[in-house]
Amino acid sequence: MEKKPFVSLEKLREIAEKFPTPFYLYDEKGIRENAEKVKAAFAWNPGFREYFAVKATPNPFILKILKEYGCGTDCSSMTELMMSDACGFRGHEIMFSSNDTPPEEFKFAHDLGGIINLDDITHIRCVEETLGFIPETISCRYNPGGVFTMSNGIMDNPGDAKYGMTTEQIFEAFRILKEKGAKRFGIHAFLASNTVTNEYYPILAGTLFELAVKLQRETGAKVAFINLSGGVGVPYRPDQEPNDIMAIGEGVRRAYEKILVPAGMNDVAVYTEMGRFMLAPYGCLVTRAIHEKHTYKEYIGVDACAVNLMRPAMYGAYHHITVMGKEQSPCDHRYDVVGSLCENNDKFAVDRMLPEIAMGDLLVIHDTGAHGYSMGYNYNGKLKSAELLLKENGEFQMIRRAETPGDYFATFDFCNVMDKYR
Ligand SMILES: *Cc1c(COP(=O)(O)O)cnc(C)c1O
Repeated sequence: MEKKPFVSLEKLREIAEKFPTPFYLYDEKGIRENAEKVKAAFAWNPGFREYFAVKATPNPFILKILKEYGCGTDCSSMTELMMSDACGFRGHEIMFSSNDTPPEEFKFAHDLGGIINLDDITHIRCVEETLGFIPETISCRYNPGGVFTMSNGIMDNPGDAKYGMTTEQIFEAFRILKEKGAKRFGIHAFLASNTVTNEYYPILAGTLFELAVKLQRETGAKVAFINLSGGVGVPYRPDQEPNDIMAIGEGVRRAYEKILVPAGMNDVAVYTEMGRFMLAPYGCLVTRAIHEKHTYKEYIGVDACAVNLMRPAMYGAYHHITVMGKEQSPCDHRYDVVGSLCENNDKFAVDRMLPEIAMGDLLVIHDTGAHGYSMGYNYNGKLKSAELLLKENGEFQMIRRAETPGDYFATFDFCNVMDKYR
């Protein structure tokens, strides 16, 4: 499928007059339409809730939009819990799916009324010692081990992942938790990442539903919800077929009818913790070509770098690039599109065929709405960009300002050595 930016060159020029590149731009209309679709896809399950994975796009303005569609938040840290609280998420609207968890974070999550999802059987003792009791509602993360494969060859390797409990452990955990007073149980698993197939959730649901039936039968623990976690992907490459969330919801419904209903478990709520699917296509990184270099290869230097978007450097991830205003020009130039870090992996594209790029051209780097800005760091003393929201009426709003040198030097505020630049 052809990848088109959600913003016109004219609008981008208007924005860039006010906010210097690079910046992140989010598409409010796209976010809303997609959130509505997710809601519709699982409307057959009265208890359904999408807990948006905050780590994907930790911005209060974004969280508040998703909240309007009934979303909760899935948190993995103290600050994500704080952001959820500040945005008005209450009680069971907060899921705490962390791992290697500091005890004080269990405490804070519980104080907010959030649901604690235990990554490991040893965390039972940690939670009990920290809180003084076991919460009545509690969830356990499952890891079946081995290799997880789907019919289109997509696979992931749960056996090699640090997350979750083994089959034996989750049965034991349910028994212990029940004995210690837990009353409503959840099961959670994340077995494959960025799956671009409608099969993933239905297959995962089948596995978890069967496990739930066995767990409830053998331990007597009441399974109240099953959390399919994240992992629903987006087509980063133009030749990929996007997921159909309605088909995914329907696939999960079929597994529910086949496995849970006959077992008398027709009151189980289905939860999801999607991050990427909720936001990735509805954000882009906008950058400008500032240098061209002709050595052993052709390079285009842009004003963004891996600090703004780490996925290509970290995973060799593909992000489609549109040279704005040249959509109809032939892609007859082979470029490495690079940032300014003193790291040779700071490349947004390698050997990419693109239209001829002129200095000053605006480039849109697609599908950066999730795991984009949030993964950023400050290597080379580079500062993180602003985040902007393109509203449905065409107005744009700053939803995070760009970092300043003062932010970078803020952790020296106990002494006066950097005062000159603050
Ligand atoms: C990262 C993560 C998610 C979101 O994953 P996506 O691939 O963005 O959907 C959900 N749940 C947990 C526990 C995670 O670690």
